[in-house]
Amino acid sequence: MGMHCLLSASSAHRWIHCNKSARLEENFENSTSVFAEEGTYMHELGELRLGRYIGAVKESNYKKKLKAVQLNQFFNSEIEESVEVYVAFAIELIEATRKSCKDPIILLEQRLDFSKYVKSGFGTGDLVIVADGTLEIVDLKGGAGVSVSAECNPQMQLYALGALILFDCLYDIKAVRMSICQPRLNNISTYELSAEELLAWAEDVLKPAAQLAWDGEGEFEPSEYTCKFCRAKATCRARAEKNLEMARFEFRQASLLTKDEITEVLSQADDIAKWCRDIWAWAEAMAIDGEDFEGFKVVSGRSNRAYGDEKSVIKKLTEAGYSDDEIYARNLKGITALEKVLGKKVFSEVLAGLITKPPGKYTMVSDSDKRQAVILNNTAEAEFKEEI
Ligand code: SF4
Repeated sequence: MGMHCLLSASSAHRWIHCNKSARLEENFENSTSVFAEEGTYMHELGELRLGRYIGAVKESNYKKKLKAVQLNQFFNSEIEESVEVYVAFAIELIEATRKSCKDPIILLEQRLDFSKYVKSGFGTGDLVIVADGTLEIVDLKGGAGVSVSAECNPQMQLYALGALILFDCLYDIKAVRMSICQPRLNNISTYELSAEELLAWAEDVLKPAAQLAWDGEGEFEPSEYTCKFCRAKATCRARAEKNLEMARFEFRQASLLTKDEITEVLSQADDIAKWCRDIWAWAEAMAIDGEDFEGFKVVSGRSNRAYGDEKSVIKKLTEAGYSDDEIYARNLKGITALEKVLGKKVFSEVLAGLITKPPGKYTMVSDSDKRQAVILNNTAEAEFKEEI
C-alpha cells in the first residue's frame, strides 16, 4: 500500500515488460476502488493485531484503536477471519525466526526505498523480518479474484530490494524469502532467492527497464498479463494493433475453417474479447458524459418496479387487513451471506455435511489456466472404444 508513484511496485510487472505503459498511463486518472479501500483496511487491521503481538502497540492503545477499527464500514467477521489467517502466518514466521536468531528486526508497514534502481521508487512492506543472514518479506493481499504467486514476482522483489538496501550494511543478508498471503483464496505462496541473485536482477533487468519506462522509451508489449490493469487498456494503439492483426489473418481458401485455423482463432479470442469489452466500457462512459460516437446512442436500460417507501407500503397493507404471512417472505440467506454472519469456522462446523458443491458446467479454457483438465469419456476416441 502507499502513495502513487510513476514506477510503482504494484505495476512493476507492467512497466518492466511494456516500458512505455508508465508514461502513457499518466494520461488517465488513477482512481481508487472499493476493493482497494477494503484492502487498505485489511492492512490496518493486520498491522494493529501484529503490532500488539510484537509489543509495538501497548494494550491500552490497542483497545482504543481496535474500537475505532471495528466501527469502520469494512469491518465484518469475514474480513476479521481473513486478517487472522495473515496474522497467524506472520506469527509463525516470527517465531520460527526467533528460534534461530535471538533478536531479529521485525517491522510492520515499513516504507522501502528502492530509488537506487528505480527513480522515485518506494513501496511498503507489510511485514519485514531481518535476521542473521536472512531477510523475510510478507505481503498481505485481500483480493479474492486471481491467486497471486510470489515466484519471480517483481513487486515482491522490489520490496525485498528496498529492505536489502536498508539492512544489508547491518546484517550480512545471504537469502531473501518473499511470501504472499492471500487468505480469501487460501493462497500462501513463498519464493526464495539469494541476495546475490536479487541484486543481479536489479542491475540487469530492473534498472534498464526502469530507466526506459521513466524516459517514456522502450517498447509497448501488449499481452493479457501486461494490459489487464493498465489504465490505457481501452485506447492503447499498440494493444489495438495487436488485436486487429487477427482481422488480417489469412485463412486458406476453403468454405469451412480447418481445425488448425479454429485453434489459431481461439488462441487470440479471449484477448480480443477482453479488448472489445474494455473499449465498449470506455466509450460507454464517455458517451454518458456527452461524447458523440457516430452510429451509437445512449438509452435507458430496463428497470424494475420498486417500492418508494417500504414502511408506508407495510403500513397501508396492514391497515387494509393483510396479515404478516401475506406481506412478508422469509428466505434462507445465501451461502456467502450466511458465512459472513457466522464466520468461516463456525459456518463449516455447524453446517458440516450440509453444503454441497455440484460439478461446474464444462467450459473450455486455454492451457495456461491453472485448473486441472477434466477427463471426458465422450470424446470420439472414447466413444469408439465403447462401441467395440
Ligand atoms: S494497454 Fe497494454 S500495451 Fe498498451 S500501454 Fe498498457 S500494458 Fe502496454
